[in-house]
Amino acid sequence: MTERRLERSAVHRGDLILVNAQLPFAGPEEQDRVCLDANVMLARRAAEPLRRLVRALGGWSVLAPVSGWRSQREQQEIYESSLRQNGRAFTEQFVALPGHSEHQTGLAIDLGQAGPDLDFICPDFPYCGICQEFRRRAVDYGFVERYRAGKESVTGIAHEPWHFRYVGRPHAAIMMQRDLVLEEYHSFLKNFPLGGTPLCWKEGKGVWEIVFVPLQGAQTCIPWGENGSWAVSGNNEDGFILTSWKEQ
Ligand SMILES: [Zn+2]
Repeated sequence: MTERRLERSAVHRGDLILVNAQLPFAGPEEQDRVCLDANVMLARRAAEPLRRLVRALGGWSVLAPVSGWRSQREQQEIYESSLRQNGRAFTEQFVALPGHSEHQTGLAIDLGQAGPDLDFICPDFPYCGICQEFRRRAVDYGFVERYRAGKESVTGIAHEPWHFRYVGRPHAAIMMQRDLVLEEYHSFLKNFPLGGTPLCWKEGKGVWEIVFVPLQGAQTCIPWGENGSWAVSGNNEDGFILTSWKEQ
């Protein structure tokens, strides 16, 4: 076991960062992006599992990528154009303020059922058929439905059946099993501070241990094990989530 020192700015980076009305995206612009189609880009680490899942369901002829990574400027343009076309009430419900959109992380994707007349802001993604099959299997690929019905008061965003967020494995499965959205998951993880009993998740032969490490000033010291089986993400606010994996 070795140690790693994380700069304060690292709290704004990683698969689990929380971006919402209170917490703006403060990380560097995602550089390692890949194109899902001509207009839709995603961070490579999210795009690869997404492609595998979509391929398993029949490919991009049945599901359509509608919107992925957005720069600050693009988010600004979408917000302003929605204000003009749809008015303030609609826009505030469905379009995040520039700087506060998960799309700026490169880890969020809006999907639609492939077909003509796909709406750019509210694409059709019903709770049946191929879309529901996507939803059911998404957690195995590290994705969660981010803005669910009944959680509007927590997320601050209206129900968006089409918006999925990559958080990685096994976090997506834990969130699903415990019925937690990302805001709630971050509160929950604070019950498992480094040095105490970790949150444990078993799947097949794998055992994951997850702990929360509070931000410790200019540098935060975390334990670090063998490469490939340890991952760390900031929460975009006040600490880090450390995930380690081993085979049973
Ligand atoms: Zn979206």
